[in-house]
Parts: sequence; structure tokens; C-alpha cells
Amino acid sequence: MHTKQELDARMQEAGIQPLKKLGQNFLLNPNIVDAIVTHVKALSPSAVVEIGPGLGALTDELIVSFPSSVTLVEIDSGLVEFWKKRAPLVQIIHSDAMSVQWVNLGIPDGACLVSNLPYSIAASLVMEITLQAGQPFSSMVLMMQKEVASRIQAAPNAEDYGIPSVVVQTFWTIAKLVDAGPQDFYPVPNVGSRVITLKQKTSTLARQGYVEFVKQAFSQRRKKLNSNLKNSYPKAKIDEAFEKLGLSDSARAQELSPTQFEEFYRLISV
Ligand code: SAM
Repeated sequence: MHTKQELDARMQEAGIQPLKKLGQNFLLNPNIVDAIVTHVKALSPSAVVEIGPGLGALTDELIVSFPSSVTLVEIDSGLVEFWKKRAPLVQIIHSDAMSVQWVNLGIPDGACLVSNLPYSIAASLVMEITLQAGQPFSSMVLMMQKEVASRIQAAPNAEDYGIPSVVVQTFWTIAKLVDAGPQDFYPVPNVGSRVITLKQKTSTLARQGYVEFVKQAFSQRRKKLNSNLKNSYPKAKIDEAFEKLGLSDSARAQELSPTQFEEFYRLISV
């Protein structure tokens, strides 16, 4: 489905008009579809989950490539009915992706999450999946607003380096796959988009405790790291971590790399 005419025909069949509040900007550029699906195939995932199949720009290709292992999660009831008719053998979950307990879906470990994410949930969804215990994804291929991707990929000291950058980079290896412009969608959005790929790292960190630590470290950006942490963790542990990591007393959270955050947290939580 790569032309506006095909998209119109599907909108008519599904009985829908694009809803801004659900971020329904449908992908039209076949080169971007191809880049995403080729990458997913190369990962040889155990299963594929797509959030927001919409009218199927990615879904059609995913079902052809993974005929027995695609699960769709869609919030729009018109689109859920469309997919039930169009692909009766594919598992479709009618739900808000933000409230899915992924561990309960029976999806095998080693699955890949694919999505052209609605703009409003992209940042929180990546954090939610990163922190959910037992989620089955070892890889994700996600399209999102360019600014959100940039925040997730930001390096220490960059203006947009913050909690999502540290937390997501701690648990995933992230790379840019391809950029998309407004003209690649219908309706045309007023922002640019980027597809990023995320491969899960092996980690034994206690995720909830770690994210609380990172939030505390960034709680007041202008303040020194020491001041942000001192009321939440024992002084002796903080001092020891500063010394072992070779940090100056005046260090601020935004100067530490995700690896330094991880080491710091290990030192104060033993
Ligand atoms: N995959 C299609 C494409 O690339 O053309 C549609 C992508 S469109 C940007 C986002 C899709 O996510 C829509 O189908 C929308 O209905 C769905 N959606 C929006 N919010 C959602 C949510 N919270 N949970 C699940 N699906 C959602």
C-alpha cells in the first residue's frame, strides 16, 4: 500500500478518517517500509509485534515475512475490525499499547517490536518497555518524532541528554536506521521522523531502583550531582562512588555517561 489512492481505498473500507489524537499519520514511502522490514528480517526474531498497524503500510509486509508469528496491538476499534476481516489468522489485541502487560501475552523471548509510533506515546512507550520485567523483546525497530529519537540517542553534555537517554542507552544498543520527512506520510505531519533500532543488552541491574536513581540525579539539572543525591542515598556511599569513578565534586548529572551511571548505581546499592 504505497499510494494515496490505495490508502484512500483502505480508509473507505475501514470506515475511518485519520485521527490526530491517535497520531494517525500513515506511512506512504515504500523505501522506508523496505528499510524497516529488511532490518527486522535480518534479526530473525522469534516473533514480531506491531503497535498501531493502522492501514497496513508495514503490516502487509510483516505478515508476508512472518506468516505465523505476527501480533498486532491497535487502539482504534475501526482498525481492529479492519484487521480481523483482512487477516483473520493474525492475533490482534484491541488495547492501548501503554497499558499492555507484555509478559502476559505468551510472546516468546527474542521477539521484535516494530512500530511507526503515534507521536504522543513514543518516548513513554520506550521507557515503559525498557522497565517492564519479563517483556519478550530483544530488539525494537521504531519510528518516532526526530526530536524524541535525538533525546534517546543524545550523548553526555548535549542539551537534550537526560533521563530517557541514560536509561534507554543503559539497556539497549541504539542506532539510526533511516530518517523520514513530512511528505512520507498522509496526512502530512509538521515534524520530521526517524527510525531507530534498539538491541537489548544483557543486564542484571535492578531496573526500578536504577531509574529512580537516574531521576534523582537529574532532579535539578543546574545543581551538582552531589546535591541532587545527598538526601536519598548514604553520604559515605556517594563519596565512595565519586572517588572510584574519579568524578569531581562539582560534577553534574549531564556529564556522566550511561556506563558511569550504571557503575555509580552499583556502588551505592551494594
Ligand atoms: N503503522 C501504520 C503506518 O505506518 O502507516 C500506522 C502508524 S500511525 C503513526 C499510529 C497507529 O497507532 C495508528 O494506527 C493508531 O490508531 C495507533 N495508535 C495510536 N495510539 C495508540 C495506542 N496508545 N496504542 C495502540 N495503538 C495506538
